[in-house]
Amino acid sequence: MNLPLQSSVFSIDPDKLPSLPSVAIEIVRLSKSDEVSLDEFANAVAIDPSITTKMLRLANSARYQRNQEVTDLTRACFVLGMRTFKIMALGFSVAKITDKDKSEFDLTAYWTHSIACAVAAREFARLVNSQYANEAFICGLLSRIGQLAMMRVIPERYEELMEFSAARLPTADDEFHLLKMTHHDLAKTLLTKWGLPKLLVDAVSGWREPEFAGEAEEVCKILRVADHVARITTDSEKGEVLQQLHEFAGLDFGLTPDEVDLYVVDLNDEVIALARVLDVKLEDQTEYQDLINSAREQMVEISLQAALDLESTSVDLEKERQRSIKLADESKENLVKSQIDALTGVANRGVFDEKLRHSIQLRIQGNVNSCFGVVMIDVDHFKLFNDSYGHLVGDKVLVEVAKAVKKSLRPTDFFARYGGEEFVIVVGECGKHEIELVAERTRKIIESVEIENEGDLLKVTASAGGAYGNRFNNVSDGVEMVRLADKCLYQSKESGRNQCTFAEFTPRACQSSSS
Ligand code: GH3
Ligand code: MG
Ligand code: MG
Repeated sequence: MNLPLQSSVFSIDPDKLPSLPSVAIEIVRLSKSDEVSLDEFANAVAIDPSITTKMLRLANSARYQRNQEVTDLTRACFVLGMRTFKIMALGFSVAKITDKDKSEFDLTAYWTHSIACAVAAREFARLVNSQYANEAFICGLLSRIGQLAMMRVIPERYEELMEFSAARLPTADDEFHLLKMTHHDLAKTLLTKWGLPKLLVDAVSGWREPEFAGEAEEVCKILRVADHVARITTDSEKGEVLQQLHEFAGLDFGLTPDEVDLYVVDLNDEVIALARVLDVKLEDQTEYQDLINSAREQMVEISLQAALDLESTSVDLEKERQRSIKLADESKENLVKSQIDALTGVANRGVFDEKLRHSIQLRIQGNVNSCFGVVMIDVDHFKLFNDSYGHLVGDKVLVEVAKAVKKSLRPTDFFARYGGEEFVIVVGECGKHEIELVAERTRKIIESVEIENEGDLLKVTASAGGAYGNRFNNVSDGVEMVRLADKCLYQSKESGRNQCTFAEFTPRACQSSSS
């Protein structure tokens, strides 16, 4: 490898920068006016058949699923909502600039990264109740676009850079070291030239240093987290990346490492779904649970290595090495054991307690004002099941119920096994209406579950009780909230089972309830 001693400073020829595809130009133009109808947006997209297909696929995907198939763009715009429609169409349109790329650029790594980053940014924004979920998504999708542009304007230097960098997609530090500029700089030139909204330009070009990004600071912080998540999928130094991810998510958003890991594990299906919608081939997909496990193993090794470096002479190296392997194995096992319910594979009680505590803390600190709710679900007459068919069949019922409920929930809803035949949902950003919708939908989903047993199809029902609120004085209000939800659950049972009951939680008097 020939490393140049001194890099030159480049003047960028704007004509060599990729131009914005025509659909995107039209969407950006329409977005500048306040009075644009659904039809006008739909017509702008309709000129491109491949984007039309992707938008329809999106509107019909599991996340937005309706009873009826969506077959036209105006309807898709209605189903997705104007803002989401606009952002997704813009994202899909910009994504097309790689369609004809014949360069040496590692497009698979680029897309594996960008798709993971887009989904990670959107889901993280939802997790921390940010209003910028749509913006975070498109910024994630565009977060490395500067690198694509670099490949176009200075292809030879970029190839040197790829040779120099240890990562599949070079880091901004690598770029600066070698080229004295970063993909963030180039993204700024490019997105400004394209006339994209200032928030997007500032976020994509500024997320490396959010504190200087002005109004885009929040999106930048989300992107910094999301970029680290995406790097876990493409980098080999996963431990170091996970360590930084924990640090940023902890410092900027107050999340614990366990919460962060659980959030990452949950991205799996959404990433695959987006790749499918965009028709992009991802790197051989490793489950996110495995990625996190190997990142955790590497983290343990890193900290042990650091300890070893300090003590180096006096310790028995081989013994320490063995210990590190054992610890890494234990860490992997413990992560799974400590967070995931062994029977159903959903989060366990401990993670729920932590999630509840965190949701309340955010509201006490005033970082979040929205309502949230807790729904307790208890399978009806479950004991009869065990008694009639045996515990193994009972177990199967719990597995099928958990699977069906988990699949039906939105990514912002948190689902866990509370214990025995009881499950719990933490419904983010919800009032009475939303919590009723979620609980009622869950009840119906459970009612529709069929468990195959020796040629018979067994059916179950469940009762639910929910509490919702946005005023809290103390973290221990979580316990009271669960107590109230439990009380409502008891009412559902009393009134005949297979139904839901709710009550609003207020810190002291939490008595009122309605069926
Ligand atoms: P109700 O409608 O009032 O909720 O009646 P129920 O029979 O569902 O409630 P009860 O609390 O009487 O019984 C719950 C049963 O769930 C008792 C316990 O043995 C069983 N159970 C708890 N955990 C598991 C498990 O992991 N597997 C199996 N198979 N059974 C379990
Ligand atoms: Mg019970
Ligand atoms: Mg029960």
